[in-house]
This record gives sequence, structure tokens and C-alpha cells, in this order.
Amino acid sequence: MSATANLKDHGLESLRARFVEEGIPAYRANQVMAWMYQRDVDDFNLMTDLSLDLRDALAERYATRAVEIVKAERSVDGTQKLALTTHDGHRIEAVIIPEARRNTLCISTQVGCPLACDFCATGTMGLTRNLTTAEIVDQVCRARTCLDEEDGEISNIVFMGMGEPLLNLPAVEEAIRIMTDPRGMALAPRRITVSTAGVVPRIPDLVEIGPINLAVSLHATTDEVRDVLVPINKKFPLEVLLDTLRSNPNVTKKRPVFFEYTLIEGMNDSLEDADRLPGLLRGIPCKINLIPANPHPGSRYRAPKQEVMDRFAARVHEHGMRVTLRRSRGTDIAAACGQLANTDADEVGLGEGA
Ligand code: SF4
Repeated sequence: MSATANLKDHGLESLRARFVEEGIPAYRANQVMAWMYQRDVDDFNLMTDLSLDLRDALAERYATRAVEIVKAERSVDGTQKLALTTHDGHRIEAVIIPEARRNTLCISTQVGCPLACDFCATGTMGLTRNLTTAEIVDQVCRARTCLDEEDGEISNIVFMGMGEPLLNLPAVEEAIRIMTDPRGMALAPRRITVSTAGVVPRIPDLVEIGPINLAVSLHATTDEVRDVLVPINKKFPLEVLLDTLRSNPNVTKKRPVFFEYTLIEGMNDSLEDADRLPGLLRGIPCKINLIPANPHPGSRYRAPKQEVMDRFAARVHEHGMRVTLRRSRGTDIAAACGQLANTDADEVGLGEGA
């Protein structure tokens, strides 16, 4: 067995099975999970309901930490951007977004991203590798250490940082099991949102996981424009993507799909675009989130003027659709959607996350 095996790679069932294989009673897995996720204890020496021998044996075989914070920045609006390093030296990012009654954590699933969306700084990096389950859930554990009592707990998790979650689905699935297990992080599934740029063949597998939220990066109302902004559209065009959602009972019977739509000046912000949305999304219970484009170095895209965005939102609303015009968070520390640019050790931005 590798000395670097990480306990956080396993949901409860997998950990129980692994312990049994090693001659450790299965119930010990429940105890270890509770220490790691409910009490935020990573040090085996502090797991006082385990025997000393077991603590030593586990410490010899297993790690419990998978990522470490190398830099934390706080925006004027309270958003915190965490630059994290994996144990093999790759940089990823997570962002804590405080809101009135909740703290949302945006996490990464890959180092870089292969999908090369044209408005997204992460897309310029290419893919280095998938993150492991431990590296995904440990972003949550590390983020918890950045909140004090006044800030409250991490209450919501969005898979919208670096990478396309559906291209790393096995690790994402196991991470969601840990997040939602009552003996793990004990988050309600409805507090978890997974975002995809449209990896159509994996959507049915994702919505099987449970009543988590699905977010789809739409960003355009025609294939012509979406081919440019979200190049995976050339493989899975709008009709294929939306028909898959429309025809999947696990999608239509569950929670509404969140369609993310980054508003870009002169590209996708016309009233004709607003008028096309209802027809496109017909038959899919949904909410539309409009996000002003966030500039990043090298990007040719800008957000439309505020009045243009307001007019767009109002027009979509007139069609009877549920629509929210979001304000960007953390732009002063490059923590907003689409701003990731992993340039050097001290300068790590945030991706849009699918
Ligand atoms: S928007 Fe998402 S899927 Fe597209 S390049 Fe950025 S991280 Fe990847």
C-alpha cells in the first residue's frame, strides 16, 4: 500500500471496505470520518477515541491533507480567494463568497481545463490533470479554517472553479458523497451545485447522483456564437444539449436547471438574444443567471453597460422566465467568474468552472 494514500479519497462505504480489507473494524471508518469532517481534525494523534496502536498504524499508511493554502486574499466585498497547492506542486483556487445568510464556496475539479472557453482565463491554461477526490473535498476543509465564528459555516458548495467537473466525474461523485453523508460534511444535496459547459454524455450520470443542482453554462442563444464562446458546442450543439436536458426525467422532475449566461458587450446581449431564450429553454424547469463578463488580461470581452444588462434581464423576465442579474464578486482580487489566470506562485486567479 502506498504511504501517500489519502483517507479523503474515500466516502464512508469505500473507507469501511478498505478498513475491513486491512483488518480494521468497519465502524472505525465512521469515527475517522467524523473527526475529519465534523470536527475538522486531520491529526491522528488527536483522534482520541481510536486506540494508540490504530492511530500509529493509520498515520504510517495514510495522509489526511491533500491541499494547503499558500495565499488568501480578501476583497472589499468580503469575498475570499484562496490559492492552494497540491502535494505535487500544482496551483488551484477556491473562493468563499459570503452572502446575507450563507457562505458559498466555489471549488476546482481540475488543474487547468481542456475546454478552452473563449472568455475564461482558465481555458487558456489547458489541462494539466484531474484533481483527486481528496483534493476536491480538502478545499472545503481548508476554506473552513478561513472563517471565524462571526463569518459562519460554509453552507453551499458550487463546482464552478477551475475545470469541467463532468470530465472528472468519478472523483466529483465521491466528493459529493462525502459532502452529503450525514457522517461526513452533512450538507443537504440541494446546497450543492455542479456546473457543466455541456459535456452531454455525462449529464445523465451526474443527475443520477441525487437531488443536487445542475448548472449549465449557456452563454449564447445561437450555435454560431456559442461555437466561439464555448467550443464544446461544436461537438454537442445547443439542440443536442437542450434536448438531453428536456428528455431526462431526472432533470425535469427535480430541481430547476440553472442556466449561466455571461453577458458580453456586442456578442450575446441583444434583445433578439433575450427573445430567443424562452423558445430554446422550453420544457426545462429553469432559472437564468445573468453574469456580467469579467475582464482578465488578454481578454477581448467586456460586460455591456448596466442599462443594456438591465434591459436584457427585464426582457427575459417579460417572457415569464425566472431570471437574476448577478453582480460580480471579488473582481478587485481577480476572484470573479472567468478571471482565473494561474500565472505564478503569487498570482492565481479564478476560473469560471464549466
Ligand atoms: S468556463 Fe469552465 S469549462 Fe470553460 S474553460 Fe473555463 S473552466 Fe473550463
